[in-house]
Amino acid sequence: MLLPARKAVVAESCDVLVVGGGPAGIGAALGAAKLGAQVVLAERYGFLGGSATAALVMPLMSIFTQHPKKQHAGDISMFPTDHGWGEPVIAGAVRELIERLVKAGGALPPTYKTGYVVPFDHEVFKFVAMEMVDEAGVHVLYHSFASECIMRKKEPGVVFETKSGPVVINAKMIVDCTGDGDVATSAGGHYDVGRDTDGLVQPMTLYFRLTNFEKVAFENYARMHPDQWKGVHGLWDLVKQAALDGELDLPREDILLFGSPHPGEVSVNSTRVIRVLGTDIWDITYAEWESRRQMKHLEEFFKRYVPGFNKSYVIQSGIQIGIRETRRIKGDYCLNAQDVMEARRFDDVIARCIYPIDIHNPTGRGTVIKRVSPGEAYDIPLRCCIPKDLDNILVAGRCISGTHEAHSSYRVMPVSMSTGQGAGVCAALAARANVHSRDVAIEDVQRELKKQGADLG
Ligand SMILES: Cc1cc2nc3c(=O)[nH]c(=O)nc-3n(C[C@H](O)[C@H](O)[C@H](O)COP(=O)(O)OP(=O)(O)OC[C@H]3O[C@@H](n4cnc5c(N)ncnc54)[C@H](O)[C@@H]3O)c2cc1C
Repeated sequence: MLLPARKAVVAESCDVLVVGGGPAGIGAALGAAKLGAQVVLAERYGFLGGSATAALVMPLMSIFTQHPKKQHAGDISMFPTDHGWGEPVIAGAVRELIERLVKAGGALPPTYKTGYVVPFDHEVFKFVAMEMVDEAGVHVLYHSFASECIMRKKEPGVVFETKSGPVVINAKMIVDCTGDGDVATSAGGHYDVGRDTDGLVQPMTLYFRLTNFEKVAFENYARMHPDQWKGVHGLWDLVKQAALDGELDLPREDILLFGSPHPGEVSVNSTRVIRVLGTDIWDITYAEWESRRQMKHLEEFFKRYVPGFNKSYVIQSGIQIGIRETRRIKGDYCLNAQDVMEARRFDDVIARCIYPIDIHNPTGRGTVIKRVSPGEAYDIPLRCCIPKDLDNILVAGRCISGTHEAHSSYRVMPVSMSTGQGAGVCAALAARANVHSRDVAIEDVQRELKKQGADLG
């Protein structure tokens, strides 16, 4: 049966259209707007932040290299991680975001106390991100879901499903920051999904915030059971006991918690839904349901088994489950595990990363972590953001070109924001000169990124 043709309103034409308002989209919109481009940023929800705000993912990690010699100093903290304590490798828009979050009272600066990561308040994040893009002159369109890319030689366009019906926005250049590569895929871009062996992706996790927790009681327990708490995760024996008692049924063996800027509160990253794909609507529906069942069990588990949590309760869960991995758009270069582990440098670097390869088991218990050597960081080349065979579309954030292993490292929020900024700058330069992304001189992209405060090593 043929569906009736729909009439779409052509809303506007711009230099750079950024689709998706997560960390990558915020970075891309800022990068392009700071060059004077006319930028539209379209987002399916009514706020910015993507996984950081919609899925309550926290904290921002990792911003520094791990210093080979420096030792941790300071009093014992509940959440010391080893996510870097040396030189900063990520700056630019990320740095500005962190400074403004801290100034607004919405984040703790990265120090030993926070494990050198940045715990933040999700509501302050939404506001600060909105202020930043507004000040840069970006035109934001909320509640707009990109459903189709219309490819034309000169000026491609994207169809958005909105309350006002379908709306088209045309642009000289498009930066796909949907996390899933929705626009690039619709434009005919090729992609990979999951592991080479079986195509399975990392599990999904519904994040939630627990409040009314007594830190001192928990820290006492952690001190008395040093084999049961390591940095941000542990409680293996309690999880085992609760499973034996029939009180907890999780496909993971431990609990992962992050401190928050608010005393008496933690963010819980411990639900795990396996064998589901974030671009399959039936899988996502099942995952939302299953993760909420797990959250309910975890809330009870904390109250009944974990010292310091007997009066705690859930005050908020993500408005959607957190999705770690879906499509990786095939680009002019595919970043791989060797590039990450050998801290490879590239002439066309636009962003840097020290976050480890971090693969939550796609089939059940366990997480594989492989760290970049202390003091080292690897480069992400612009070519990872340029989809093969597409001229007017760039990708940024977690859907750039890389293998399953490399993706598990570069997917984190500060790096996503940095690849966004790099892609945004390239898109604005291409739009200004009326050329394709591949025709922009990398020296021009890098010069502008440095001007915008980026650290390219
Ligand atoms: C459970 C979990 C834990 C994590 N832990 C951490 C951590 O501790 N620290 C860290 O730094 N990173 C962490 N990450 C990784 C990080 O959150 C993501 O990889 C990162 O947010 C990717 O940024 P992005 O902008 O590419 O995508 P996203 O954050 O996913 O943003 C994509 C945006 O695009 C919008 N969008 C999607 N499709 C469309 C469409 N068709 N039309 C319009 N808009 C659309 C979405 O609404 C969203 O706003 C975690 C991720 C998960 C899931």
